[in-house]
Amino acid sequence: MENRMITYDMLRKLREFFDGEHLITSFYLSTVEARGDFVERAQKLIDEARKRLQETDYSEEQKKSVLADFDKISEFVRDKLPIEVRDATPFLIKGVAIFSSSARGFFQVYYLPRPLRERVVFDFSPYIRPLTLLLDEYKRYLVVVVDYKKARFYEMFMGSIVDAEKLVDLNLRARLKSPPPRLRRKYDYAIAAHYMNVAESIDLIMSLRDCDLLIIGEPKKLEGRLMAYLPFRLRQKVAGRFEASPSDSIETILKRARKIEEIVEREEEMKLVRELKDRLSEEQFAVSGLKDTLDALMHNQVQTLIVEEGYEVSGVRCPKCGFLGTDEAICPVCGSETLHVVDIVDDAIEEAIEQGASVEHVIEKSLLEDVGHIAALLRFEEEGENAQG
Ligand SMILES: [Zn+2]
Repeated sequence: MENRMITYDMLRKLREFFDGEHLITSFYLSTVEARGDFVERAQKLIDEARKRLQETDYSEEQKKSVLADFDKISEFVRDKLPIEVRDATPFLIKGVAIFSSSARGFFQVYYLPRPLRERVVFDFSPYIRPLTLLLDEYKRYLVVVVDYKKARFYEMFMGSIVDAEKLVDLNLRARLKSPPPRLRRKYDYAIAAHYMNVAESIDLIMSLRDCDLLIIGEPKKLEGRLMAYLPFRLRQKVAGRFEASPSDSIETILKRARKIEEIVEREEEMKLVRELKDRLSEEQFAVSGLKDTLDALMHNQVQTLIVEEGYEVSGVRCPKCGFLGTDEAICPVCGSETLHVVDIVDDAIEEAIEQGASVEHVIEKSLLEDVGHIAALLRFEEEGENAQG
């Protein structure tokens, strides 16, 4: 499968690819089973987009290109996606983002570790903001599997893994050719040089690929060996280690490395929720529950929106000014009639991104149960009623 690993670089190239003349279709779909038949939903999304397209004043040629995009996307979702989703283990596919520009012969698929809001957008540039958010939220890991002779590097991100060694020009043995003559024990020297080389490569790859954390795989008898060669700065970034040998399959490595990733993520989640609950109990710089969270969002107070993974609830949105609420029939901001929205959480997330707030999903369901499944850390408290501006 291609294009599993989304990088900023890829998104930058995607954006630069477009020239203001040709339209590109951006398509987002959830493949989570609980949401029903995704092929059917995709068809509905596209039918609706087709109507929207007819109402635009794009040229016939431009429309033709977008219609061809729709056909290609439909076909992919119907014929290929179910197979990709089914065969995805040990990878996780919970959603898909597709970019297509038929006029330029461009078609690209990204598999997502989390469903993003479903939509079809056609425009002169790709709609990539949701992907940018994903990139920001997930940590990028360098996984190194090393023994005294070999080392393999993998990059792990959003539940998928690539062979990172291919991404850099490495020649691990280059420096073994001429050990200084004062070193008689060539064998030991070669091993030490190998580990030093690996440590340098780790440093290089981590900075080249913007990796946040390091995971080490080693055979049991060599446990802790690499650690001794890592500079303090890199030791600080070690998220964990597991037992492995450089000849293990990529699937085995991914499975074991993901366990460490899960532990790291759970710890971060706990930390975030602890901070939230501390602040809530002090009634300072935090709100919880849908109503208060939406209210804080509408007042631009939110620094971090915290949402239980999979939490969905209906609400209302003002079509005129964008106000989000729980059940207000009339918009309290502009007086327009509000629209019923099936999942207001989606809108809240969009709004938070729009405002430059960060969004954190909490996977462990029990953590946010007692605070109403949604909450926020605030930048500032609402000022008194008489405050101006
Ligand atoms: Zn309004």
